[in-house]
Amino acid sequence: MEPNRAPSPLVEHLNQKGSSFADLCSECGKCAEVCPVIRESSPILQQAKPTQVIGDVVKVLRGESASEYAKTWAEICTGSGKCISHCPEGINPRLMLSITLSKIRKEQTVSRENPLNGFYRRMSQIIKLAAGMQMTPEEYKRITGATGNPENAEFIFYIGCNVIRTPVIVFTAMDILDQLGVEYAMLGGNANCCGIIHLKWHGDANAAGKMNSNTVDKMAALNPKKVLHWCPTCVLQFGETVDGYKPYPFDFQHFSDYLFSRLDSIAPRLKPIKRRVALHSHDGGLSIGKSVEKILDAIPGLELVEFEEHEHWAYNCGPGALNNVESMRRDAHMQTLKSAVAAGADTVATLYHTCHRDLCVFEKQFPVEVLNWTQIVSESLSLPEHPDLYKSMKLQDEVAVAIDDASEFIKMNNLDVEALKSALPEMMLGKDEGISLW
Ligand code: SF4
Ligand code: SF4
Repeated sequence: MEPNRAPSPLVEHLNQKGSSFADLCSECGKCAEVCPVIRESSPILQQAKPTQVIGDVVKVLRGESASEYAKTWAEICTGSGKCISHCPEGINPRLMLSITLSKIRKEQTVSRENPLNGFYRRMSQIIKLAAGMQMTPEEYKRITGATGNPENAEFIFYIGCNVIRTPVIVFTAMDILDQLGVEYAMLGGNANCCGIIHLKWHGDANAAGKMNSNTVDKMAALNPKKVLHWCPTCVLQFGETVDGYKPYPFDFQHFSDYLFSRLDSIAPRLKPIKRRVALHSHDGGLSIGKSVEKILDAIPGLELVEFEEHEHWAYNCGPGALNNVESMRRDAHMQTLKSAVAAGADTVATLYHTCHRDLCVFEKQFPVEVLNWTQIVSESLSLPEHPDLYKSMKLQDEVAVAIDDASEFIKMNNLDVEALKSALPEMMLGKDEGISLW
């Protein structure tokens, strides 16, 4: 295994990328023309010429202040990736906008005008509270890799930080790996962040670089051949935004792509289940949705229904993606549920944890069961079912009842009940970090 070289500061790396994009860009405007957030949700940007919008982005990359056009586009980009294949110069406009947003946030932070200052602290607190209501301290240590890792496992299952709010997904995915006889170490939690929040929310590329570099070092110390991702944001952060900043002495693959590559081993173990499933998906230029579709399609008795949804609007449902634009998020979710029910689905399968957090609450309104796709695979493999305590909490109307239901875990984890009382109303409404809009 090659030793890691000392990384150059991430800020320099991104400045170089940004400058080369600015030099290459012909300002043809094709990326802005095809962008769904401009088309669907931004009257300000719709009034502008696409060439002017991208021209203003290029100016930010050259060191000028951001115009309203550049700021608006960078802030509402949902990472859909629709623009990528349309650039005649081979630029990735999604990455171009990520770098632009980081620069804008940095300026806002310096001038104390960043509305998202403190976002990482708030997010960490919400993860701690949500996780602490749903699992024992031992389970938390196990899923974040603090205990229980085998030595020299071939794989790391790197879960990132946010999926910890929905431990049902982590426990279920681990069961599936166990069933396949995969030897893996776990890594995740706030202390093992990919650095995205510091980069894109706070504009602090130095802190983001250190976090990312520390996490890569922890991965390398476990000596794996492959790191299996769960979180799509980590996929983009490692595979696109900071790609080239620090060498990785191992391969990355998404959990779903890995399972799909093992379909020959999985398929004979799948037992029939009777479900009509609407698979909620995202494109984002990633193969994850397609892999999950093929895995679910291999389950005997399960019928994947065709329905209409806006899978091209964002790379996932969470903050930094569909959650950036309230109207799009609301329209996309309503379309998904209405269309799934009209197509006769009895189950909506969520793709990511962010989608699960948003969509599980629709069980109140629509006659469907909302499950993560891993839960459906687990059911077909006859693995033990883990309770979805996050969904139960969100389906509650009363904060006091939600606290009472979780009282054992709250005690075990020494959670501050007053902090829970103030955070839970927003968490139960899906406003987990206080910035989600419904
Ligand atoms: S990634 Fe999607 S939302 Fe972002 S600029 Fe490209 S097309 Fe627009
Ligand atoms: S499509 Fe490519 S070359 Fe054209 S404006 Fe967008 S980034 Fe620049």
